[in-house]
Amino acid sequence: MHEFSIAVNMVDIALEYAEKSNAARVNEIELEIGELSGVVDDAMEFAMEAAIKGTLLENAKVKIVKIPGLANCRSCGNEFKIENFFDPCAKCGAYNPDIISGKELRVKSLNID
Ligand SMILES: [Zn+2]
Repeated sequence: MHEFSIAVNMVDIALEYAEKSNAARVNEIELEIGELSGVVDDAMEFAMEAAIKGTLLENAKVKIVKIPGLANCRSCGNEFKIENFFDPCAKCGAYNPDIISGKELRVKSLNID
């Protein structure tokens, strides 16, 4: 399961930060998930719940922020919303746009005590 290894990785990053900051616990973890990352929300929430068990993040609220896919056309410079990597430019129909956002998979913030 793709989401589970991502969740474990996110929790590792959060734990490393929390330990460095001498946190007693983590109240909230906020994740940024790009719409082009291929991650399924429900699966991600489920995976996070499993990944935080028995860690400093055990009771943390998991907040997932979705980042919409945005691309810039290399042919005409048009900026447009993209739902998958192979979408053509909405204006001129060219393929292989530059992806501006939507690939994010990261820990955005932590609320610690
Ligand atoms: Zn274009």
